Amino acid sequence: MPDVPLVAHSPTEACLFLLVTPCSLCHKGPVEDLHAHTVNDRDAGAIVTVEGTCSACGGRNTHSFRLAQNGPSDEEVDPPQVNRTDSPSRIIDVAQWLTLFRMMREEAGKESDKVQARQLEIEAGQCLDEALKFYDDADNDLPREEAFFGDESLGRFRNNPQQYSRQRLIDLKSQLPARLPSTLRGSSQSVSKRRWWRWRK
Ligand SMILES: [Zn+2]
Repeated sequence: MPDVPLVAHSPTEACLFLLVTPCSLCHKGPVEDLHAHTVNDRDAGAIVTVEGTCSACGGRNTHSFRLAQNGPSDEEVDPPQVNRTDSPSRIIDVAQWLTLFRMMREEAGKESDKVQARQLEIEAGQCLDEALKFYDDADNDLPREEAFFGDESLGRFRNNPQQYSRQRLIDLKSQLPARLPSTLRGSSQSVSKRRWWRWRK
């Protein structure tokens, strides 16, 4: 189960958590128009607060996260690094990473801008990398049940275990780019300003 307070490896991971967490007020709509603020508290370390608006009820959702120790800032790289450690996320479980992977790949398919589309494919691949961090048993092609943080995720796994085959994830990942090709790199300056999930600092 996630810690209290929630621990994130980066502001990006905190924002992605809100993308797969229903509104805390109406429990329906996804939370959109995300803003992340990081503050350094002398006692608690770095705290990132993410705010967003529910697309169903319009209510404000705010979540605060403690940034994991030794989690370097992700702000200077593009695409942002979600989690530079080998430890799996403590706030987004393996099923939710697969949901994020599908969301990003879908958005990539709709994107007409070539650089944007490629960037989204890279981020979809990062979600698979994060999912794969939960597979800590080399002899088991499936994750442990501890890799699912709630009944909903666990139910999805038990109904469709084949979706969670490590080899399947590795095969999906192999179809995605790891970085922008050099021919597109020069034109990627504006990418971080236009993330499809509209995270703004
Ligand atoms: Zn709501």
